[in-house]
Amino acid sequence: MQLKILRFICVFILTGILSYCSLIHISTSGSVSGTSAVYPASGTDLPAADFTFYLPRVALNKCEVPVLPIIEITEDLCAYDMSHLSVSDPKLFKKDKTMLIDLTRIQKENYSFPLPGAKVISSYAGKRKNHIGIDLKTFANDTIRTAFDGIVRMAQTYYAYGNLIVIRHFNGLETVYGHNSKHLVKPGEYVKAGTPVALAGKTGRATTEHLHFEVRINGQHFNPEYLFDMSTQQLQPKCLVCTQEKNRIVISSMDSFSNLFFMLNASN
Ligand SMILES: [Zn+2]
Repeated sequence: MQLKILRFICVFILTGILSYCSLIHISTSGSVSGTSAVYPASGTDLPAADFTFYLPRVALNKCEVPVLPIIEITEDLCAYDMSHLSVSDPKLFKKDKTMLIDLTRIQKENYSFPLPGAKVISSYAGKRKNHIGIDLKTFANDTIRTAFDGIVRMAQTYYAYGNLIVIRHFNGLETVYGHNSKHLVKPGEYVKAGTPVALAGKTGRATTEHLHFEVRINGQHFNPEYLFDMSTQQLQPKCLVCTQEKNRIVISSMDSFSNLFFMLNASN
């Protein structure tokens, strides 16, 4: 019995000595059992990662901006189309009553201010309430350029407009250029954005050489400032929303469709 008590006391003392030594080792080396931690050096590049490992495919798809529906326009022009300013295009608003034209998606090389460097001498529905375009002035016989790619629908003398050019664009809009001194294109001709189409003049009802510029959709005119910032002569960073209501088209503009799409997805 005494032997058992003696063995227990020896084991107890030995365990105590070993624990004490272990504590001293940890406090002096700063690591456990002699294994030191290895930290990465600062500025180390992260490994190239395919985030499909971390995000489910559904979430990734939400980040891809959807393609806007293709706008179909009538390119086969009849004699009436070539001789009347305000004509509707039967292909527009055929499938959908709302049409989106996202100006933020149009690259710089795919549009042109109609009279670069011009200043505005009369705004849309400004002092002259019935003014349905915007008057731009540089100097006589300056080059007028088409705003977007499209097809020349009209090129002729037309009442107070004098020499008039109308271009139907593939984005669904039409642009109108009046009082020209000379025409450089013919009806039915395809043109790229920035193509010279006419020279500025004062034919028709005009007292000074200038360009009378209109923007239309389905024959209905609207303020060209929805399209262009007249001070910077750049496209507005907006998306035009054109909605057919009975016999008229209501135009409004919102932030780019892409931004709106991301905003809606983020709130879902
Ligand atoms: Zn005018």
